[in-house]
Amino acid sequence: MKDPFAYIFRFCCDPGFNDQAELAALDRFVDKALVDDVAVFANVEELNTGHMGREEQDLYLALMTRVRDLLAGRGISFSVNQWHSVMHADLGKRLGEEQPFRPMVDAHGRAASLCVCPLCAEWQRYIARLYARYAMLDPSIVWVEDDFRLHNHEPLDWGGCFCEEHMKLYSQRAGKPLTREEFVAGVLQPGEPHPYRKIWLDVSRETMLSAARAIGRAVRAVSPRVQVGLMSSTPHAHAAEGRDWYALLRELAQGLAPVDRIHLPGYQETAPGQYMQGFNMVSMLNRALLPPETRVYPELENYPFSRYSKSRRFTRFQLLSALALAPDGITIDLYDLNGNGIVWEEGYQTTLRATKPYLNALTEGGLLRGKRLGVQVLCCPDSAYTLHTDAGVSMEELYPKEGFWGGLLPAMGIPCVYCTDPAALRGQVVAAAGQVLRNWSDEVLEGLFRDNFLLLTGDAAQVLCERGLGRLAGLESVHWMRQNQGEYAFEQVTNGKEYAGRPRARASAVISCSDAVAVTYRPDAELFEYTALYDSFRQRAAAGQVVVNGRALVYPFGNFESPVQIPPMLLNTVRAEILQDVLRAAGLELPMVENSPYLEPYCFADEAGGTALYLVNAATDPVDCVRLAGLPAGPLTVWRSEKGGEAERVFVRHTKTGAAVDLPLNSMETMLLYWRHGEGEDPE
Ligand SMILES: [Zn+2]
Repeated sequence: MKDPFAYIFRFCCDPGFNDQAELAALDRFVDKALVDDVAVFANVEELNTGHMGREEQDLYLALMTRVRDLLAGRGISFSVNQWHSVMHADLGKRLGEEQPFRPMVDAHGRAASLCVCPLCAEWQRYIARLYARYAMLDPSIVWVEDDFRLHNHEPLDWGGCFCEEHMKLYSQRAGKPLTREEFVAGVLQPGEPHPYRKIWLDVSRETMLSAARAIGRAVRAVSPRVQVGLMSSTPHAHAAEGRDWYALLRELAQGLAPVDRIHLPGYQETAPGQYMQGFNMVSMLNRALLPPETRVYPELENYPFSRYSKSRRFTRFQLLSALALAPDGITIDLYDLNGNGIVWEEGYQTTLRATKPYLNALTEGGLLRGKRLGVQVLCCPDSAYTLHTDAGVSMEELYPKEGFWGGLLPAMGIPCVYCTDPAALRGQVVAAAGQVLRNWSDEVLEGLFRDNFLLLTGDAAQVLCERGLGRLAGLESVHWMRQNQGEYAFEQVTNGKEYAGRPRARASAVISCSDAVAVTYRPDAELFEYTALYDSFRQRAAAGQVVVNGRALVYPFGNFESPVQIPPMLLNTVRAEILQDVLRAAGLELPMVENSPYLEPYCFADEAGGTALYLVNAATDPVDCVRLAGLPAGPLTVWRSEKGGEAERVFVRHTKTGAAVDLPLNSMETMLLYWRHGEGEDPE
């Protein structure tokens, strides 16, 4: 790989089918698109014949050798995109006669016909041999595909593994023979987690670690320098299989830097603001769960592969916005996985070429690798151990929903950062959603509330009360009101201030909103009420957003359905202005974007005392002039995606409420602002 920001192009070629022409096309494409590494698919998707045999692998080894030789001498490396580990799905295929692998089994006892149990020793030996042979070709990376997981293995219900061997392990740890029904009922039991929950998560974790170790060690035995990369799925789903990110990546890496292809949530084009919700709630959260030394190459893909799925413009937007992850590059999967090869007519190569200088300049400058600043959004990789299920019927109830603030705050122009260690926080604004507060001791939570200002959703407030710690936020009890049952229809400002330019501003709270809590506060609590909830007859139903004892904002909404989406009703100007007002009063000393929905900020501090602010315009409207509250006076250095990699100097103009940078920012484009404190006042 040669550029600071690496393009890893995932290349599908069907050996023996147009391969001559496709290799010639690749030869041109890598130059046109400025590709740094070619990941050659083996036995992929439509062309997958099941778990490949040795002779079949020989065909791909020969293809990879041709690609390697083609790229040699041009500074372009090659890597291996082996497409299956345990196998994504059965898709009507079966294990071969010579493949005595144990199938994966779901919670109802249904066995897959092709997907295997990751603990199967025969399969582990097989997959280790496969990877060892790839490593002998000396690729830069051998990738482990995202079927390396327990969930999502069609036609199984959710996934596995509940095979006889796994049932024996669960039974051993439980100290008695267990049926699948009995075990699953325990794992999912509503309320306080049953001991079977921990058994499920521990055994699942160890299962995947043992498979990762088999692959990692096999590669390391052959080569000291071939990296093993993991393609991962959504962190909330991996939480339900007990994934230990640090241990798993390090078992694969075996002494080298861990490598992860973070999932980017958008195989098909969506509105960019919507995309950024997924990006912030999935990709950014995932980034925070990885060891800091991990090399990150997120997943650019336009499945099912054409401009009907994704435009060139949106592809560029994904490249630009991915910089917020501080990645080392990106994996690029743009064309059919059926042997059609590179499709020049789509024009993606031009987009890749045009966007590269900016990606290189920002990556090389290192400004996005500083310490992340912002509201500290709590998350925990082990939440599936502690969360309470509701109905107790589906494995999906084990998915934590902790990303709400991570999705909401940037959309409202407020920088945030995920935090897994609340014990270390002092003098910060900290945000908690879902059941994340179940993960730490009373002592840690007491310190957290003593030393910081908290934002709490309704469910976070409920968890505090259930733990007997309501006093930390002045709470006596919470009562849930279900949305659309008539109890509340809108929220109205009650603190006498104007928001969105109107007194007693209202924000709707029906249809596409969420449940809300009515809180009983402790008699000694000092309340500063911003809003109250009202029904359609203009009758007050409950307090709304309330700052308690100057230490915590109770934000009444909660019980959100999706771990990757904000209820649309909660996104509006009135609520954005209230939230920024609360944060200013709480002493948050960071720039916040004024009056530009989906102009999303990511803030970093460097060791030279400078601050970098990366702005992603995820609105479909352009911004004429970037307005920021809390930006200091003085000169700025700016890099704009529309200007390529060139830096410009601008001066901050003060406005009535904050500051303005007199530069426009187009829809789906980005800019990086950088300043050092005390660098001098505006000389004009
Ligand atoms: Zn099994």
